[in-house]
Amino acid sequence: MFFFDPLYLMLALPGILLTLWAQWKVNSTYNNFARVANSRGLTGVQAADILIRQVGLQGQVQVQGTPGKLSDHYDPRNRTLFLSAEVAKNPSVAAVGITAHELGHALQHAQNYGPLNLRMAIVPIVNLGSRLGYIVFFLGLCLATQMGANPIIMWIGILLLSSMALFALVTLPVEFDASRRAMQMLQTSGLMQTQELQGAQKVLNAAAWTYVAAAASAILNLLYFVALANRASRR
Ligand SMILES: [Zn+2]
Repeated sequence: MFFFDPLYLMLALPGILLTLWAQWKVNSTYNNFARVANSRGLTGVQAADILIRQVGLQGQVQVQGTPGKLSDHYDPRNRTLFLSAEVAKNPSVAAVGITAHELGHALQHAQNYGPLNLRMAIVPIVNLGSRLGYIVFFLGLCLATQMGANPIIMWIGILLLSSMALFALVTLPVEFDASRRAMQMLQTSGLMQTQELQGAQKVLNAAAWTYVAAAASAILNLLYFVALANRASRR
């Protein structure tokens, strides 16, 4: 139904294209630097071990494997770096860059970095908003257009949906800062040569675009529902 709404196409298309481009970019950049061995021959797990000690987080952060490709993440609930098999086991430039990025999140957590705390705090609201937002919105839309009810329910739906856009926006400083910390860590650690540092930076920059694309898509999606609500409210 929405696919044929020209307004939806107009609003959603830039987000979809940006997302596709960002996914292509992160995949191709990762594939490039996953094939470039780092000069110290360090896998993600080995680099994690060294870097965790260098930043003084030994005993406070765990490292575990996780299935999938580019599925690496830091889970603040159990203070664990989850590394994909390729990153954990391959001694590549990409593996060390990504490991340092995930450790950047662990550092944010240990240092009470505000945006990370905010992101963790809004997770329950986002879960509720993403589950109920569409249902409440369409219920409100039906009631308002079919039965002439007050459009307030529709706007409550939009408020719930806006939590997803808020989450995507708060994610941006968290991700940019983790990459900044990663590059700082790698520079001071002496684990990588200048050219390898540039490679790691390229992988992390490409990954950052996926978060930019997600935030843009979330905002455009929200704008579409605001436009629908406006349209319905005017009737
Ligand atoms: Zn991250």
